[in-house]
Parts: sequence; structure tokens; C-alpha cells
Amino acid sequence: MATQPILGRRCGTHDLSSGDRLRMADMESRFREQTRISEADLSVIIPVKFIHVVDGQDGAITTGQRTDQIEVMNSAFATQGISFVYDEDEVVIVDDAQFFRMGHRSLRERQCKSQNQAVDPQTGLNFYTAAPGGGLLGWATFPHEMDGDPDMDGVVMLHTTMPGGIGAPYNLGLTAVHEIGHWLGLYHTFQDGCFGSGDEIDDTPSHSGPNFGKPSDDEQPHNLCPDAPAGSSCPIHNYMNYVDDDWMTEFTAGQKDRVWAQIGMFRSQLLEAAEATRISESGAAVIW
Ligand SMILES: [Zn+2]
Repeated sequence: MATQPILGRRCGTHDLSSGDRLRMADMESRFREQTRISEADLSVIIPVKFIHVVDGQDGAITTGQRTDQIEVMNSAFATQGISFVYDEDEVVIVDDAQFFRMGHRSLRERQCKSQNQAVDPQTGLNFYTAAPGGGLLGWATFPHEMDGDPDMDGVVMLHTTMPGGIGAPYNLGLTAVHEIGHWLGLYHTFQDGCFGSGDEIDDTPSHSGPNFGKPSDDEQPHNLCPDAPAGSSCPIHNYMNYVDDDWMTEFTAGQKDRVWAQIGMFRSQLLEAAEATRISESGAAVIW
């Protein structure tokens, strides 16, 4: 199987412009003012449809890899009140050498997704695997993009990043966690480096750029920005950083607030689809 060595995590998810992020921050604060969400509401089960784009046997994914991937996602998102399910009978295999190598935001990606989308993006997650090349491990679309371009919604993963894949040190399924983080509205923790508003989440202090590998806990604060609050640590274990799979262990409470605001604003049909408790207009325990 021909694969190129992976020399550092690279995520293809595009950065929003600072203007778009400002607008998003405004929308979120308005949403929080206008919507009361009770603690009990913060639970959703998201149906996942795996769409494996392959070239013959190249890119094939086993049942065990799928179940392991779902387990990794469920473990990572447990603190966010989010879990995932999939149905083995509904796995889609697309054998197409051209689509297998689709580039990020390419015409091929659009064709592949338009022809093979397996679930209405309002009600579930289209999870594609392929071999996009360019050193990218994966990418995602953001929640606010779904309405205007539903065909493109979902995550695309380099197939070797699935648990048991050959893409060490990125083969434990954490790339999917990272990309689904974007799909639920999270930015990189190193967004904007030290020059901007960062990821707009208070408990993920800004740092100057991605951390790679397994940065030592003893060498904090690493590349934390100078204006970080005293006593802060660089979020070297955050799923939205670029460290190795086995170094990623956390989402924060602030990230949970962001994810649920984004679900409320743009993906609320997930709640209905999963028959989860609806966002309440008069919840007793308001979390923000
Ligand atoms: Zn990313």
C-alpha cells in the first residue's frame, strides 16, 4: 500500500476569516441571551454514516475499525454530552480511484459527496474516508456552512487515521475526534496565534502555534502567549491542538458551551432526530 510518511499533523479545515469569526461570536452571544438550556438538555446521540471511498482494496476499512472509531469518539465526547452510533448494514463503499484521491475543496470532493451522501446532514454525520494526499489527515465543514451548502457537510478522514490504520502516530482515531470538533463549531486552540481573538474560548488559553508530538507536561507553559492569565497552561492535551493521537485527552467546559451553542443555532435537528430532549425556553438550570 503506497502511503507517504506523515511528518506532523495537518488538518485541512479552513480558518474562518476574522470577520466571520466576529459575526459568529456575536450570533453566539445573542443565542445565549435568548435561549435557556437546562443541564438535562445537553445530551444527544448522533447517527454516523460511514462512506468509505476506496480504490479496490486500497482504503478498505474493517468492521472492527469502525466500532473502535465510534468507541474513541464516544469516549472523547462523553464530557460534552455527545455520543455516536452507526449501523453496520448502512456502511457505504464507493470504489472509485478518482474520488479516492479527492483533494480538499476540489471538484472531485464535491462530485463524490453529491453522489454518495448517506444521511441528511441535518440529522446525522456523513463520515468519509479516502486518501486525499497533500499530507492532510482530514478536514471538516463548520455548522454554519450546512444550510448554504448541504452537499459538502461532514468530515473527510485519511483512511490510515482510523484505529488500527497504518498512519502512526495518528492511527488511534483521534483525527476523527478533532475533525468532528470542527464539525460542531470548534476552532483550533492555536487559532490566530498570539495576534487576534484566538479560538474565543476562555479556558483554552491562546498559544503561538500548534504543538506537535508529545510535549512534556513538565515544560509548561510551552508556547503560551505572553498575555495569558497567570497560572495558565498551554492546552497540549486538547483535541483541537495538533499533538499525537495518544497525547490528546481533553475538551474543556468552554468548548462544551461553544459546541452546544453551535448545535442550538445550526444543528438543532440532530436533537429531534435523536429524540433527545429539546432545547428548553424555560429550563431551570441555566448554564450560561
Ligand atoms: Zn483542525
